[in-house]
Amino acid sequence: MSDLHEQITRRIDAATNELVSLTSELIRFPTINPPGEDYTPCAEYIGNRLKKRGFQVNYFRGRGTPGDTDRFPRTNVIARFEGRGPGPTVHFNSHIDVVEVGSDWSMDPFAGIVRDGKVYGRGACDMKGGLASSIIAVEAYIDANPGFMGAIEISGTVDEETGGYGGVAYLAEKGLFSKPRVDHVIIPEPLNKDRICLGHRGVWWAEIETLGVQAHGSMPFLGDCAVRHMGAVLSAFEDELFPLLASKQTDMPVVPKGAKKSTMNINSIHGGDGEDYSGFPAANVPDSCRIVIDRRFLLEEDLATVKREVTNILEGLKDNREDFDYAIRDMWDVLPTMTERDAPVVQAVSQAIEEVMDKKPEYVISPGTYDQKHVARIGHLHDCIAYGPGILDLAHRADEYVIIDDMVESAKVMAFATHQLLTGGK
Ligand SMILES: [Zn+2]
Repeated sequence: MSDLHEQITRRIDAATNELVSLTSELIRFPTINPPGEDYTPCAEYIGNRLKKRGFQVNYFRGRGTPGDTDRFPRTNVIARFEGRGPGPTVHFNSHIDVVEVGSDWSMDPFAGIVRDGKVYGRGACDMKGGLASSIIAVEAYIDANPGFMGAIEISGTVDEETGGYGGVAYLAEKGLFSKPRVDHVIIPEPLNKDRICLGHRGVWWAEIETLGVQAHGSMPFLGDCAVRHMGAVLSAFEDELFPLLASKQTDMPVVPKGAKKSTMNINSIHGGDGEDYSGFPAANVPDSCRIVIDRRFLLEEDLATVKREVTNILEGLKDNREDFDYAIRDMWDVLPTMTERDAPVVQAVSQAIEEVMDKKPEYVISPGTYDQKHVARIGHLHDCIAYGPGILDLAHRADEYVIIDDMVESAKVMAFATHQLLTGGK
C-alpha cells in the first residue's frame, strides 16, 4: 500500500465514531418524500459542515418542479473543494430524501440508533450511510493530500425517490452535472460495498383505460361493463404478454436474478364506484376501468417495441371482442443505461475495491432506476456509477440499517478512487 493510501486508511479508521454520529445526525432529519419534509435543514446541515472544511457551498431550490412549495421547498446543496490547480472534478451525489416509514418499525425510525455495529433508521441504508461515507472519505483525502489538483464536489439532492425532477434533473439542466464542471460521478446508493452498479433497466409507465356504457346495475345488458373489458385485457396479458416477457433474458448483469428478464407490474386498478364510497355502492354498470402498468425493460429492447407489445394486444381485443374500446396514456419513460466497464470511474473504483477488500468487485445493473439517468441523459456525462455501502434488500424496509464496518470500508474505496481519478494513479 502506498504512503498516501496508508495515511488515508489511518484517518478514516480514526474517524469511525465521527462517521457513525454523522450518519445518525442525517437520519434525524425526517426527509420523507412525498411530501418532501425537512429538506432545507438537512441540506443546510451538510452545507454548514462542509463550509467549515473550506468547501464553497451553494444551495439550489428546484423552483417550479413537482411538489415544490414554500412549505416544501426542493432544496439541494452542492459543495465544491478546489485543489491547488486545474484538473478533473470528482463528484459524489447522494439523495437526501427517504421513503415513508410504514407501521412495522420496532424502534423510532428517526432517532439514528446505534446498536451491534449498525446504525438504524429510515434512510440509514438508502442512502444517508452512503452520503456520510462519502463526506468522511473526501475529508480524509483532502487532509492526507492537501496539494491535490482538480476539484471534489459533494451534493445532497432531493426527490430521487419520486423521479429526481427537483433534484439531479433540475441541477443537470443547469449544467451542474456536465463537463467541464464535472468529469466523474459516483452515486453512493446501497448496492453493497463490493459491487459496482453500472446502470439500470428502462422504465415505461402507462395508464390503460377500457371504456363502457353506464346503465342500471339491475339491467347490465343495457350497458357495457368496462370492468369486464379490463378483465379481458388482464387475461390476454396473462396468456400472451407475461410469457413473452419471461422469455426475454438480458446480457446486462442485473441483480437480483429475476430482474434479468423483462418484467411488468400492474401498479393499480380502478373501476366503477370509488374506493371511498360510504354506505352502499350505487347500482351502476361502470363505464370506465383503468390500470397503471409499470414495465421494466432491458438494454436489448427498444421502447417502441415495448409499447407495441402492449398496444398489439389491445388492438387484437378491439378486432375480436364485441364493443371493446380503450385508451392508453403514456405517463413516464426512462431508457436503460449502462456505463462501460473500461470507463475511468469503473476502473478506479474496481482497483480500490481490490486494494481495500482483497477481492474483485462484482459488476451489477440495478433493476430500478436512480439519478444516473439524469446525469447520462441531461448532463451527457457517461462516466457515472453507483457505489456505496448498505445492503440493497434493506432499502425501504422496516428496521432499515447500515453496517458500520461496511461504511468504513467503502469510505476507503471512495477516497482511493478519488485519488486515482484526480491523478490517473500518479
Ligand atoms: Zn436511494
